[in-house]
Amino acid sequence: MKCEHCGAALEVDQLKQVRFCPYCGAEIEIKEETPETMAGAIHGIAKTFFNQTADKIRYNREHAAEIAEQKRKEKEEEAKNTRKIMMCMMGGLTVLMVIMMVVMRLTGGN
Ligand SMILES: [Zn+2]
Repeated sequence: MKCEHCGAALEVDQLKQVRFCPYCGAEIEIKEETPETMAGAIHGIAKTFFNQTADKIRYNREHAAEIAEQKRKEKEEEAKNTRKIMMCMMGGLTVLMVIMMVVMRLTGGN
C-alpha cells in the first residue's frame, strides 16, 4: 500500500492497528483484521504486559531498601500505637487504684 499523500510505502503499526507513512505521518486505519495485525496486536499486548511486569520487578529491586524501610516504619508506628494504648490502660488503672486507695482510706477511717 502507498501513502495517498506522498506515495511512500506505508508501514503497519501493529499495536495501533493502522498503516502509517514514515515520511509524512499519515495514518490509515486497518479495517479488516489480517493475521498480520492480529498477531501484531497480541504481540503488542504481550509486550506491554511483559514491559510492565519487568518495570515492576525492576522497581521493586531498585527500591528494595526503600520498601523495607517503609515496612519497618509501619511496624514501628504500629508498635508505637500499641505502646500508647498500653500507656492509656496503665494510666487508667493507676487512676482507678488511686481512687480505690482514697476511698478505702476514707471508709477505713470511720
Ligand atoms: Zn506520506
